[in-house]
Amino acid sequence: MRIVIDGQKIPANVRATKDLLLTLKTIAKTLDWKLWYDPGNEVVYISSSSNAQSTPDDLSLQIITEVESNRLQGKIICLDPGHGGSDPGAIGPNGTMEKENTLTIALLLSELLEINGATVVMARDADQNVAYPNSTPDDELVARVNIANEADADLLISIHNDAFTGITAAGTTTFHYGDEESAALAGYVQKCLVEELGTKDRGCRFASFYVIRYAKMPAILVEVAFISNPEEELLLASTDGRTKAAKSIFNGIVKYFKV
Ligand SMILES: [Zn+2]
Repeated sequence: MRIVIDGQKIPANVRATKDLLLTLKTIAKTLDWKLWYDPGNEVVYISSSSNAQSTPDDLSLQIITEVESNRLQGKIICLDPGHGGSDPGAIGPNGTMEKENTLTIALLLSELLEINGATVVMARDADQNVAYPNSTPDDELVARVNIANEADADLLISIHNDAFTGITAAGTTTFHYGDEESAALAGYVQKCLVEELGTKDRGCRFASFYVIRYAKMPAILVEVAFISNPEEELLLASTDGRTKAAKSIFNGIVKYFKV
């Protein structure tokens, strides 16, 4: 992983770990720096606020500048990375866990939302149960939807990986509880995901999942791809696939708000 501060490359090449990224993120937040991680190229870009006028000469940094905006200013978006802690979610044929894929996608998505002015409320931002350690599945769902409702969020996005007993099931599905706004949001997100990931379009579907049923705001549950399918498991575990998933959900949200 390389680190670039205000366009200057830091002469160090360290292994990218979640701990390191979260530490850098905490430092950036404390010092009011802007931080962006490009997982595809494993580069961390940091822009100190005192030096925000400096002209970025790095191509990747220009991409960051491009997506940075205030278009989601005033929006509160609750992200619910499925599972976590004692609940790994579905486990792929190669042993990768749904809870890790959902968390990384949600963290990448939260960065994109925040640099565009949104306030992000995370149901969890680490590998943990949300209600209490080793909580029951029912209590977990209640805790997650409560976070969204108590934050008075404008949207709730629950992120999951699909799974089936066979290895051939594949594709992307976005679920909603049937109200017009949630269905519209699901439509935009589903379209962006399928286009960006190149996955089979399983469509937007109605479902009575607890988190989307009891959310007081437009809410969707995204099944990004099938972790039980070896090919899609790889996609979900790769930095490239996770980044594409995060960008697609972000693009769907932006289209929904028409900003
Ligand atoms: Zn799940």
